[in-house]
Amino acid sequence: MATTSEHVKCLIIGSGPAGYTAAVYAARADLKPLLYEGLQPGGQLMDTTDVDNFPGYPTGVHGPKMMEDLRNQAARFETDIRSGLVTSVDFTGPRHSVQIDDGKHTITADTIIIATGASAKWLGLPSETRLREAGGGVSACAVCDGFFYRNQDVAIVGGGDTAAEEATYLAKLCRKVYMIVRGDAMRASKAMQHRVTQTTNIEVLWNSETEEILGDQAVTGVRVKNRKTGETSEKSITGFFVAIGHKPNTDVFKPWLTLDEQGYIINQPGTAKTNIDGVFVAGDAADKVYRQAVTAAGTGCMAALEAERYLAARGIH
Ligand code: NDP
Repeated sequence: MATTSEHVKCLIIGSGPAGYTAAVYAARADLKPLLYEGLQPGGQLMDTTDVDNFPGYPTGVHGPKMMEDLRNQAARFETDIRSGLVTSVDFTGPRHSVQIDDGKHTITADTIIIATGASAKWLGLPSETRLREAGGGVSACAVCDGFFYRNQDVAIVGGGDTAAEEATYLAKLCRKVYMIVRGDAMRASKAMQHRVTQTTNIEVLWNSETEEILGDQAVTGVRVKNRKTGETSEKSITGFFVAIGHKPNTDVFKPWLTLDEQGYIINQPGTAKTNIDGVFVAGDAADKVYRQAVTAAGTGCMAALEAERYLAARGIH
């Protein structure tokens, strides 16, 4: 197999809002960043329809259009944007080494910004996939999409902190929220559970699983099965939210970086620094709490500024 190698000052891995924002800052600081797009160029926002909460778009924007804008902005400052997958890394340093596409290409870099994001977990039902792809009312982010269901009835699946938090968020906007919990208890913290049970327009459907999301082009209802009695029932809804966890895309870094028990990269508090000098993290790969495009972009900026300072402190120009 033909292999090539090259050295860069700054390698950015990932092409969501964190990666592209890091690229804009790094390129403007003359770090000549090289950015690898990864498996899903554009990241989670490519699966989103309308984005109404990213500053600077007063009338909203489609997720894929926003990612195109971010990509163009990074390209305008001459970020070298390439397709390819990071398949292994060696962070022995001081120059870190990264294999692209199973060693077809080797990059060494003085600084690396990891912005590989996280992927929402889905139930895997055919009706979920179909309606999600049609942009017809299936979402994994209540904060992003809840607004579109104001004064309507919706359902949310999950019993963890995310589901509890998003159910209470939706309850403020929507008429009624069905919370579909597969067991007879919630995994969410007691405080979050308390908030759910104190919210009068949330109805928890215990021991319940989603059999099918109903609707051709858009969600019109959900059929739920009680796992104890086997009974099924249908609820009329227009929005279906899935909050059953995320998986951070960090497996490749596991041998080198300190991760938490769910695989999120642990950054030094208030910084983008990881446990390895010269390796920084931005966006959802290190964030299981906020998970917003704007917070990802913010930490992308932090990571690039820290990479710039790191290089300056070592006299690397
Ligand atoms: P969790 O993994 O904590 O919870 C996932 C939930 O989804 C569980 O209730 C689980 O059920 C349920 N679930 C999983 N698979 C399915 C399925 N196929 N069908 C139906 N239900 C399913 O994920 P979260 O995203 O809620 O939280 C991730 C981490 O982030 C946690 O550590 C959490 O504490 C933290 N977090 C903290 C917040 C905060 O501090 N404000 C806010 C949000 C998250 P079961 O319990 O039966 O396995």
